[in-house]
Amino acid sequence: MAAEIQPKPLTRKPILLQRVEGSQEVVNMAVIVPKEEGVISVSEDRTVRVWLKRDSGQYWPSIYQVMPAPCSCMSFNPETRRLSIGLDNGTISEFILSEDYNKMTPVKNYQAHQSRVTMILFVLELEWVLSTGQDKQFAWHCSESGQRLGGYRTSAVASGLQFDVETRHVFIGDQSGQVTILKLEQDSCTLVTTFRGHTGGVTALCWDPVQRVLFSGSSDHSVIMWDIGGRKGTAIELQGHNDKVQALSYAQHTRQLISCGGDGGIVVWNMDVERQETPEWLDSDSCQKCDQPFFWNFKQMWDSKKIGLRQHHCRKCGKAVCGKCSSKRSSIPLMGFEFEVRVCDSCHEAITDEERAPTATFHDSKHNIVHVHFDATRGWLLTSGTDKVIKLWDMTPVVS
Ligand SMILES: [Zn+2]
Ligand SMILES: [Zn+2]
Repeated sequence: MAAEIQPKPLTRKPILLQRVEGSQEVVNMAVIVPKEEGVISVSEDRTVRVWLKRDSGQYWPSIYQVMPAPCSCMSFNPETRRLSIGLDNGTISEFILSEDYNKMTPVKNYQAHQSRVTMILFVLELEWVLSTGQDKQFAWHCSESGQRLGGYRTSAVASGLQFDVETRHVFIGDQSGQVTILKLEQDSCTLVTTFRGHTGGVTALCWDPVQRVLFSGSSDHSVIMWDIGGRKGTAIELQGHNDKVQALSYAQHTRQLISCGGDGGIVVWNMDVERQETPEWLDSDSCQKCDQPFFWNFKQMWDSKKIGLRQHHCRKCGKAVCGKCSSKRSSIPLMGFEFEVRVCDSCHEAITDEERAPTATFHDSKHNIVHVHFDATRGWLLTSGTDKVIKLWDMTPVVS
């Protein structure tokens, strides 16, 4: 009797569709052209390129435009095919791409910043061009008249910019680790609030207008989910990277967050699960499990003739414990810890296997990611790396 062949379980991972190469320097930003097999890229090498897939199966530039300065960022609006390019000299240059993506026509220039433009957002509904620069300015311009409408000085250089069209709130993440929320009017703005949760600079922001949740990625390796719609001040920390988080994207239809790191890691987070906030760390002069004094507690050390111990904290209950009472490690995915962290002995016993089930999947892009773009309609992800290469991935095996 023939042995029954068991089908191997399929490893669900992103499929590399294409490598797009040819830039002399890093591609600072790039987008997938919707409904086309095409990519628009802007690079430190001063070029703007539109790459289309040819019969050979390779992507070749159909447009190759050299700008007067390195191209630091861009915003592309598919409906109007308007391409806004931020330059290292502070200028924003606007073009309209032809329907066949073979030609780009200059529209206007904005003298938006004193130095390198760091982020651009074109808001079609309001005809606004929002931008941030190395000059620590946030500015918005009217895309019809080209006029500057207003500005706001941020506490540090901004590296994340998102906008909620409905409420006209702008979210600015900066290198000091702060997220500033402004309410924009036609020609004025008011400070709504500031968030501070990261120990490193904010590197990327991503706004989900449906759930009204803001995600911030940071050089401190973490992502924080700020639940603004929930109105309870909930902030959940997601720990799944071993290096700085560089880019974020959100797949609304499947409620999955894609975060990419400097180490090439692509983490796909299931945001449909309810996570808990991490507890505040408790303060104590002695271990809250075995009562041994911590090293600064001289009196108890003297009285009990015991050696002072170092204080640690259980990531699950927040108790101050000694090393002996917290010798075990566990992942706590429902608290955002996909990696193993310190827990006290009693919490370790209480955590079930179910609670330990991962809520994210981990993938390797094999290049140090500086930027990503997700095309939700096809489930394609574009990653741009420090290796000057753009990679296109089919994410449907993991984003579905
Ligand atoms: Zn102890
Ligand atoms: Zn504990």
